[in-house]
Amino acid sequence: MAREDDSESASPPARREPVRAVRGVRDILPDERAIWRVAELAAKRVAHRFGYREIETPVLEHRELIERGVGEDADAASKELYRFEDRGGRQIALRPEATAGVVRAYFDGGLNQGPQPARLYLIGPMFRYDRPQKGRYRQFFQFDVEAIGGASAALDVEVIEVARAWLFEVGLRDLRLEVNTIGDPKCRPAYLDLLRAYYRPLRSQLHKECQERLEVNPLRLLDCKVPQCQPFKEGAPRMIDHLCEECAAAWGLVTKLIDAANIDYQVNPYLVRGLDYYTRTVFEFYPASATGQQDALASGGRYDGLADSLGLPTMPGVGFAGGLDRVTEMMAAEGEEVISEPAAEVIVLPDGDLAAEAAEVARIARSVRSVAVDYEPRSLRAKMRAANKLGARWAVLVNADDSGRRIAQLRDMATGEQLEVRWDDLPERLL
Ligand code: AMP
Repeated sequence: MAREDDSESASPPARREPVRAVRGVRDILPDERAIWRVAELAAKRVAHRFGYREIETPVLEHRELIERGVGEDADAASKELYRFEDRGGRQIALRPEATAGVVRAYFDGGLNQGPQPARLYLIGPMFRYDRPQKGRYRQFFQFDVEAIGGASAALDVEVIEVARAWLFEVGLRDLRLEVNTIGDPKCRPAYLDLLRAYYRPLRSQLHKECQERLEVNPLRLLDCKVPQCQPFKEGAPRMIDHLCEECAAAWGLVTKLIDAANIDYQVNPYLVRGLDYYTRTVFEFYPASATGQQDALASGGRYDGLADSLGLPTMPGVGFAGGLDRVTEMMAAEGEEVISEPAAEVIVLPDGDLAAEAAEVARIARSVRSVAVDYEPRSLRAKMRAANKLGARWAVLVNADDSGRRIAQLRDMATGEQLEVRWDDLPERLL
């Protein structure tokens, strides 16, 4: 079959051609879901352990919410935006990350009136209209954690600890934590001038995109991955050496508390965020073995300018997002043992046309166990084989003779042992 590309996807598929999944998105099948469930349950457990409460926000947001405040990097942000006009002519975006929606919900739902900071978490799908490639999807899932309404740098370290505790809990302990500060609107502009002044004479030696970024968003030059731009980074001025008093104090507290928590980290002066509303702390967790190009497992930082850029009252916040696609992939690679549960513990096998009887037996057994019924018109032998494949612990054989007396055969699938039981005794026998 021809690979679907974007232009083709605009027209309906040719007749008889099977309908496929939309480009760049994927299914997570039941066997895979087992490992996802482990990651999600760990996320919830850890979030609650730190006093974070679950929030759900819509996948759909006004495009403006996502695009406002992205300032000079608007192009990069909107290029990736999965967006469309709805039937009412509204400009809608599928959320590319959770933070803006959570901040909006914090105000919309009056959480700003409650105890501060509001500690919130969310697990859900995000959408980016990126070029699909291995490990990067147009619909992917994040565990998102936000502490909104708190300015203390101690919260920066708290969310770092949440991220780390989650990764530990799913068995990913060999981590590298990179941390940096990108200052705030008080000290950053002067630093950006220094950065521009440093890079201007080198302009012709940078790759094209960096040449363009130099004046508009010079911070992004620091996290450029293109080889030809690498040699110049080392001599570039560092934000950390040009912090205002408040940012220096916050950075001092962040490093002190990470040390006190006994967490290993590296200061990476090239770790930045392209968007103006980010302030001070930025951090990323990588597998310790990861090389430069690899995706982070989780990344976050402080965004004290975000609410304001959305036209909301100024409100500090800090958080992170962990990538569930990436984390579950790592868990599987690390050999995380996840026993995929059988679809049902008990399978009821009617021998012949006994749907009503089988359904009743199942109903009775379901009071204590998960139960499925094999309604297929096939031989009992074939049903037994299928039951084995399903991994059921027990089979309940239902035939016409026994059913008149409300009796069935209960078979232990592991031992092959079989005994006659009254339907009504099944719950007791299955315990
Ligand atoms: P970001 O929001 O870009 O800082 O990414 C946070 C987490 O989401 C990282 O762990 C990324 O691996 C993951 N992530 C970001 N974009 C994608 C994508 N397109 N597909 C899968 N995971 C992603």
